[in-house]
Amino acid sequence: MMKLTIEQFTKMMDSPRAQGYADGELFEIDLEENRLFLGSQYIPLESRPANYGGKQWYFICPDCDTRRRVLYGVVGFMACGECRGIYRRTRNRTKTDCQYWWGMALKEIRKLEPYCYGQFTEGADSPHFGRSHVHWLTGTASTVMVGCVEGILGMRPDFYGLKIEPAIPKDWDGFEIDKEFRGKHLHIVVNNHGHVPGGCKKVTIDGQEIEGNYISAQLLKDQTEIIVDIS
Ligand SMILES: [Zn+2]
Repeated sequence: MMKLTIEQFTKMMDSPRAQGYADGELFEIDLEENRLFLGSQYIPLESRPANYGGKQWYFICPDCDTRRRVLYGVVGFMACGECRGIYRRTRNRTKTDCQYWWGMALKEIRKLEPYCYGQFTEGADSPHFGRSHVHWLTGTASTVMVGCVEGILGMRPDFYGLKIEPAIPKDWDGFEIDKEFRGKHLHIVVNNHGHVPGGCKKVTIDGQEIEGNYISAQLLKDQTEIIVDIS
């Protein structure tokens, strides 16, 4: 197994760019672009100010995205010692290789909010195997938003205004939400002192109680405080 230290590269450099061979493998390093190519593998670099002036350089482990001064592995699959210890070197894994897949699942959770689907997930040939991307461009975001605004808050707009009728678990004491509505900023406080699962008992707009739960758009100012008592 090959072992590389960051000093191997940075100590000998008298300009920000260098090429050469490390353990017989061609490398190209660029400290202005913060990158190292070792064979075909891209390894990001990062620097921090050193205690006594100058810079301390680090590899960013391609597997766990952590700053490391030493990487291990075989060419094309260098990673930090921790990743090397956890993941077996074989790429021919079975579905019952629990430790590996559990690690991969955790890794995915770290990279993406658990309620979102990514648009794509990098495959086994990528040094970032398991990482997902572009979650806010999928339908997930709008679905979560509709669930919060129309479902939980129960906000139903029409041409003349909006109706608010929250639906929440009855053990919730309430919640607050900020919402832009036709150019007006609404700060909405929902109280559920009686612990019921939904409905609307009283609505107050900037301190004025209104009849029912339909809010005419004319009542809304640039900053509007709406208090909804469910019970
Ligand atoms: Zn690592």
